[in-house]
Amino acid sequence: MKLSDVLTFCELIDVFMDSVFKNMFNLFFPELCMICGHTLFIEDQVLCISCRSKLPLTYYSQWKDNEVERSFYGRVTIEAATSLLYYNRKGEGQRLIHQLKYKKQQQIGFFLGDWLGQEMIQSHRFNTVDLIIPVPLHKNKLQKRGYNQVTTFGQSLSEKLQIPLLEDVLIRVSKSKTQTFKSRLERSIDMDEKFEVKQGEILNDKHILLIDDVITTGATLEACCIQLRQMKNIKISIATMAYTL
Ligand SMILES: [Zn+2]
Repeated sequence: MKLSDVLTFCELIDVFMDSVFKNMFNLFFPELCMICGHTLFIEDQVLCISCRSKLPLTYYSQWKDNEVERSFYGRVTIEAATSLLYYNRKGEGQRLIHQLKYKKQQQIGFFLGDWLGQEMIQSHRFNTVDLIIPVPLHKNKLQKRGYNQVTTFGQSLSEKLQIPLLEDVLIRVSKSKTQTFKSRLERSIDMDEKFEVKQGEILNDKHILLIDDVITTGATLEACCIQLRQMKNIKISIATMAYTL
């Protein structure tokens, strides 16, 4: 027997043991579907086949002038926008994102980012994006929740699209700190949404992908865009997990 045959045999044993171990682990600690709670097969991640097939996909990544893009017309200039899912009350999209936001199931962010990233690559409409920036949480909320629900989504998109995720450039600040510096128009948009760009020179001449969990009125993203647009020659696109019709 040659050395290469011994190595191949060892590799096979390794794969076999790995699979046995995974099966044993799954027997005692089964992973559950994040929507219906049924036990997942080993090959499934996050959702069972049935719930996965019921997800209300928008297919907006491929679609120019989609609902999300139209919702920003006349408000802020964006290059392209997409959301993976429709967000309906008590629908599959809402139940999934609720688990991510309030039940610490951060793997859902990875799952959704990976899925949307694949769509975005195939659409070619987001090819020129240079950087990903998440909508930040206020630091009090971050402390309370322990994580920003958009972070794993952003990490997964960053991996898929092969572009960096910058989490500390756009920050959310307390109302009193910024109010004096804002115009009446900016204040009228939404009194609760206050954002600042820190060391923003890095954003000059860049195409930014601004990401968030759910678009409802779009006021938060609009407020972020207004701040980001102060940078020289910046372009902005938007990607979110879900969109409320
Ligand atoms: Zn399920």
